[in-house]
Amino acid sequence: MRVILAQPRGFCAGVERAIDIVDRSIRLFRSPVYVRHEIVHNRYVVDELRAKGAIFVDDVDEIPAGAPVVFSAHGVSKGVKAEAKSRSLRAVDATCPLVTKVHRQVLRLHRLGYEILLIGHAGHPEVEGTVGQLSGGIQLIQNSEDAERVEVSNLSKVAYVTQTTLSLDDTAEIIRVLRRRFPSLQSPLTDDICYATQNRQLTVKRLADIVDVVIVIGAANSSNSNRLVEVAQAVGAPAHRVSSAGELSPDWFTNVHVVGITAGASVPEVLVTEVVDHLRDKFGADVEEDAEGIPEEVYFPLPQELRAVEAGRTQPQVTHKRS
Ligand code: SF4
Repeated sequence: MRVILAQPRGFCAGVERAIDIVDRSIRLFRSPVYVRHEIVHNRYVVDELRAKGAIFVDDVDEIPAGAPVVFSAHGVSKGVKAEAKSRSLRAVDATCPLVTKVHRQVLRLHRLGYEILLIGHAGHPEVEGTVGQLSGGIQLIQNSEDAERVEVSNLSKVAYVTQTTLSLDDTAEIIRVLRRRFPSLQSPLTDDICYATQNRQLTVKRLADIVDVVIVIGAANSSNSNRLVEVAQAVGAPAHRVSSAGELSPDWFTNVHVVGITAGASVPEVLVTEVVDHLRDKFGADVEEDAEGIPEEVYFPLPQELRAVEAGRTQPQVTHKRS
């Protein structure tokens, strides 16, 4: 068996930054630091941070007044930020800057009088955060059928934005329908689907063409990991998502000579190593890096509120006690 490791795979700059923010917050504010929602959609990452002192909550009303809270990489609505402020929580915002960019676009388009269509998946925290930038009026488009049905009040003042982790191909199809129905549809200034999602999809698409099976490592609730499975399957390759090596099924490797492995943007390399070790043990796999990979050198600075504390310009004023 030959194993090809996709390049890039795993952590993106937004996820690395979010994990770093929780880590530093625990050191600065001393535990417990509360984190609203899973900081990134990966159980391994969440459990590691929990062991260091993070407490994960679904809502800010679960957090004692005055305590530090980190908002997850997926972003939050204006309502969540307002509630955190009203409870005097010390908020550190780990929203990925590429999600913040979409939030800013929503506000700009709204100021300019556009009706906004958000292409994304209902229930995903990023979508909830983006919809919550306005007090109402953003319509969610999940698929081409929604694009065919959606009604707007002014055909010449319609714009769209997208979730950052969608399938490039599916989104292009939805936009094609919208553009046919609303010829003056306003596009984002730059693509909303982020560089990490694009690079991982383009890579898995190429690999799917040359391997017998694709294994995607990523959590069941990770949007970009699920899209990687769909992209590989669309090319015609069998593709399976696993959270860890323990979920690999021997049946997937019958008569298989070449395996492609990739990992979603919230997956640490240790989980990739476990899968690779498993294939070495069971099948004597030879492992190689994808020679035609896409280099990534993206870095996002820490949020201002954390840099200020680290620089000693602001004292951590934490008055809560662990409940
Ligand atoms: S997947 Fe994209 S939008 Fe999400 S955290 Fe990573 S870089 Fe940011």
